[in-house]
Amino acid sequence: MSARILIIEDEQKIARFVELELTHEGYETEKAFDGRAGLELALRGDFDLVLLDVMLPGLSGLEVLRRLRNESSVPVIMVTARDAVMDKVSGLDMGANDYITKPFAIEELLARIRAVLRQTEQHSPAHMAALRCGALCLDPARHTVAYGDTPVNLTYKEFLLLQTLMENRDIVLSRDTLLERVWGYDYLGETNVVDVYIRYLRQKLDDVFDVKLIHTVRGVGYVIKGDET
Ligand code: CA
Repeated sequence: MSARILIIEDEQKIARFVELELTHEGYETEKAFDGRAGLELALRGDFDLVLLDVMLPGLSGLEVLRRLRNESSVPVIMVTARDAVMDKVSGLDMGANDYITKPFAIEELLARIRAVLRQTEQHSPAHMAALRCGALCLDPARHTVAYGDTPVNLTYKEFLLLQTLMENRDIVLSRDTLLERVWGYDYLGETNVVDVYIRYLRQKLDDVFDVKLIHTVRGVGYVIKGDET
């Protein structure tokens, strides 16, 4: 079955060009020309990927992304203006999977789409069994975390970071690996973002439940351990 891609882009010429190229590659596409219509379509939930322009009438692309992420983990590639570094950083922080800068070569867009679809395939329902670590349980399908019977509220990035650690239980992951898996290889923000988010996770897990789940391995990185010692 071919992947379904939603194109949210107000410049109709670009939208049509991208649609033509994607259709040619065998993808199914739909278009929306403003933020509100795009969000509505994206929330309908039957897309495999959303191409989201940042500069949109109605709702901005970042606002569409923020609202979308409240309910959906559908992969999003942001389309930003050249040099709009802030948009890229905010977009990735808010849970965009990748971004591409206008004007782009169609080959680059296609490569990024393939990469993001490949990444998310690994998290498809067949691979989405709940992850456990002692009393900690993360359910990727429902996007929930609980310690024993107590639900834990995590932001999108905190969730991804914890998921990555739990998928590699008892394996030490370097900061670079975590940065790449959670924030993307071309992340442009602060490099200590991993440490900051590890601290957030510890505040919400280790501190609240008085356990030691996330261990620092000095000079190497972080590991989550199942035995809680
Ligand atoms: Ca635009």
